This record gives sequence, structure tokens and C-alpha cells, in this order.
Amino acid sequence: MCIGMYFRRQELTPDIMVGIIGAGISGLTLAFHLQEKNIPYLLLEEKDITGGYIKTEIRENYILDIGPNSILADEEIINFFKTLDIENELIEANPNSKARFIYKAGRYRILPDSPPRLLKSNFFSFKTKISILREFFRKTEKVEDETLAQFITRRFNKEVTDYVLNPFVTGIYAGNPEKLLVKLTFPILNDLENKYGSVLKGMIKSGGSGRRKSFNFKKGMATFPKAIAEKLKNLHVNTKVEKVEYLNGQFKVTALSNEQKLSYDFSQLVIATPAFTASSIVKNISPDVSQALSQVEYPPMALVHTIYSKENVKGELNGFGGLNPKIENKFASGSIWTSSVFSNRVPTDQILLTSFVGGSQYYDQYISEDHQIKENITRDFQKDLKIEGTPLMQKIHRWEKAIPQYDKNLQAAYSEIEKLQIKGLYFCAGWYKGISLSDCIKNAMQLAKNISTLKDIHS
Ligand SMILES: Cc1cc2nc3c(=O)[nH]c(=O)nc-3n(C[C@H](O)[C@H](O)[C@H](O)COP(=O)(O)OP(=O)(O)OC[C@H]3O[C@@H](n4cnc5c(N)ncnc54)[C@H](O)[C@@H]3O)c2cc1C
Repeated sequence: MCIGMYFRRQELTPDIMVGIIGAGISGLTLAFHLQEKNIPYLLLEEKDITGGYIKTEIRENYILDIGPNSILADEEIINFFKTLDIENELIEANPNSKARFIYKAGRYRILPDSPPRLLKSNFFSFKTKISILREFFRKTEKVEDETLAQFITRRFNKEVTDYVLNPFVTGIYAGNPEKLLVKLTFPILNDLENKYGSVLKGMIKSGGSGRRKSFNFKKGMATFPKAIAEKLKNLHVNTKVEKVEYLNGQFKVTALSNEQKLSYDFSQLVIATPAFTASSIVKNISPDVSQALSQVEYPPMALVHTIYSKENVKGELNGFGGLNPKIENKFASGSIWTSSVFSNRVPTDQILLTSFVGGSQYYDQYISEDHQIKENITRDFQKDLKIEGTPLMQKIHRWEKAIPQYDKNLQAAYSEIEKLQIKGLYFCAGWYKGISLSDCIKNAMQLAKNISTLKDIHS
């Protein structure tokens, strides 16, 4: 214990019932929706700033998102933005950015996004085109704990796995499709196969993934958590939860704030932190869950922001960005052509690119020195995107633990959580049943609804 630290029991009114640990987008959304339903809560955040992985750096000449760079929003999420009075801050992704480019045989090629385009384009070999069409008629199978790579190779073929699945999975999960489980990442694939006998048939019959659009905010993604935090009445920042005990149906939470030990009692407790901190928080409640959570992998990831003068760009940057299949042995897993997606990120005579180096398939590249990372990225931009000269600015941000892997270790953690017999304990975070911002928001909204139906929860 630090010198000068003392222990104090928080003078909480008996009203405070729901404790939430962690003010990332999950904890914030949950707190906001509990507040809207008049349910007493207290949100505890270790840092002096909220938002967790959501971070934006704003300077005179640029806006850089250091974590998530876009959010897929449907009507429910847009209504949430409206409630927060930030709908006028929204910017929608440029329509051209729907085009995705994949690196194949020495250059970026547009990925065909419809069956007629697929047949016309030379992105896939003739053999693969036939294999894709055959998916409609391929017999269905039930495979226990199937990985994404196994599933896509079984339903389509290896070329589709290598050149579509691999780069997309790297883009979303920074993960390895040979390890990620279908049932945890894209359970919809299993559902379509089971219900329609074919993924493609199912996609056509079920009408695709619904009407969602990609957004960010004029001043970057951090606008969003900041707007929620400003509306919350019961948020304590600089408060690190160190221990949780479960005694007589109550959660006794011990936290450290400005060198003071604080203690809180809650009847419901929501853990909205990454799995690696959730692991130490639940140690006293369940050593088994704690152990399983400690095994959830979070490979590191470096985000490299590069700004060039527009006159140096000799190629076209008309799309969301370029993804690199692992089989092509590129240095980065890909780049978002950020200023082509959200044009206000840099002055109009400049461009901003965001590259990703790391994840479970690019660890060796991640551990390179900063100057090596910068040189490799710049060299590849020169070669692949025809961008000449030196960048006006290049900056690296490293996440030592970036994205939770939805693999068998996470599956084991879910199994331990399911065995838990503790009423009133919940998990709500990017590692728990949905990694995207929209999943985190939807899961938090649903949890607020579930908690609001509990007896005696209202003040
Ligand atoms: C580099 C990167 C790019 C991404 N890009 C996208 C994207 O473009 N689109 C998208 O939809 N998703 C993206 N994601 C995923 C998405 O950002 C995350 O899944 C999501 O932000 C997780 O939010 P969360 O609230 O669950 O957790 P976190 O953001 O991890 O928040 C947890 C909070 O808990 C706090 N905390 C931890 N321990 C304690 C403690 N002991 N006591 C109190 N507080 C504690 C932390 O300080 C933090 O504020 C990206 C993720 C990364 C890393």
C-alpha cells in the first residue's frame, strides 16, 4: 500500500445498485441506458478519460483515429446518436469507399461485389468461379468447432479462403482464420448453411445484412464516448477497481482512486473491461473464470498514420483501402485510405492513409523498430499505390493488446462463465459476444433492458 493511502467506505445511498466497471463504449452505453430507465448505477473508470480503445488525436492539420475508425450503424444506433445530440456531428463514409481492394499477383485489384461482377472480373481463376457457383448445391455438413478457414474452404475453396477470408479477417479481428471459430465470429454462416443449404442461397433469400451504413464523426470517433460521458450523472473516473468479492448476495468492490482505497456494495455488477483485466477482477469470485479469461489472446497491433501531399499521388485511391492476404507476404496487413473515406481528416491538398501492422499473423513485423515500420510502409506505398516522395507526417501508435481473438480459448472462457452460479454478475465488452462498436452498443442496450426487468431494481 502506498504511503498516505487510507481506506474509506463510500457513502453510497442504498439506491446505488448496479456497479459497472470500465467506461469504454460498452460500459458507457450501458450506464446511459440504465440512467434513461431511472435505474441507479455507478460507472467506475480507471483512466482520467473515457472511451477505452476509442481515441482521437486532433491537431491543426489532421484528425487521427488511433483505435476504431468507423462504425456500422443501423436506425437504432442512429437514434442513439440523436438522443446524444451528436447526429449533426456525424459524417457518412464516401459512397466510393464501398469498393474494397485486395492485393493479388503484384497489384491491388477490386474485389467483385456481386455475382455478375464476379463472373466478369478476372479476380478469381476460372476454377474458383465454378467452385463459388457450386456452393449453391454443395452438401451441408455439421462440423464441431470448425474454424473460419475450414468452413470457407469446405463451402468454396482455398483461393476464396486465401484471397477473401484471410484479408477480411485480418481487417476485422487482426486474427488468423485457421484459429478463429465460425460459431463465435460469424455464426450467421452456420445459420445460412443449416437453414438454406447454402451460404449464397441464404444471403440472397434473407436479403443480405440489412441497412447499415458506415459513419465517423467530424472530429473523430472520440466524439461519441465523450458525448455519452457528458450526459452521465454517476461516472467516477480515475478509479481503478482492484478486487471484487461476493458476500451475502452483494458484490463488494474495492477500488483505488487518487491513492485512496474505496469500497462499494452493489447488488448487480457488470464487468465491461478487456478480458485480461476482467481476469484479475474476478479472481476472488471465480478462480476458474479468472484463469480462462487470462488465456484470451490479444495480439498487438500498430496503427501507422501517413500523410502525403496530394500531388505526390500518381495512382487512384478510390475505395475504402487495400487489404493484403497473408499469402502475399506483405509487410502490413493492409491500409485504409482514410481521406478517401472521410475527406475532412486532412486539408484538401493532402491525403491520409492508416496502415495496420501486427495482429496474430504479422507479429514479426509488429516487433520491428519504428523506423523499420515507417520505411517498409513508405516503400510499399511507393510501389503499390504509386505515391512518390516523403510523407509530410508519419506516426505510429502501438496497442500492446489490441483485439481479442474469438478462438478456442475464448470459447473455453465462455464455457466457464456459463457454469458460474452467481446471480447479478454480467460481462459486457468487446470480447464478449461481439467485437465491433455496433455489437458492443447493441449488447449493452440489451443488458440495460434485461436489468430493467429485474424486480426491485428501480429507485
Ligand atoms: C486498433 C483497433 C481498431 C478497431 N477498429 C474498429 C472499427 O473500425 N470499427 C469497429 O466497430 N470496431 C473496431 N475496433 C473494436 C472496438 O474498438 C472495440 O471492440 C471496442 O471499442 C471495445 O469497447 P469496450 O467498451 O468493450 O472495451 P474497452 O474499450 O476496452 O473499454 C474498457 C474500459 O475499462 C477500463 N478499465 C480496465 N480495467 C479497469 C479497472 N480495473 N477498473 C476500472 N476501469 C477499468 C479501461 O480503462 C477502458 O476504458 C477496433 C479495435 C482496435 C484495438
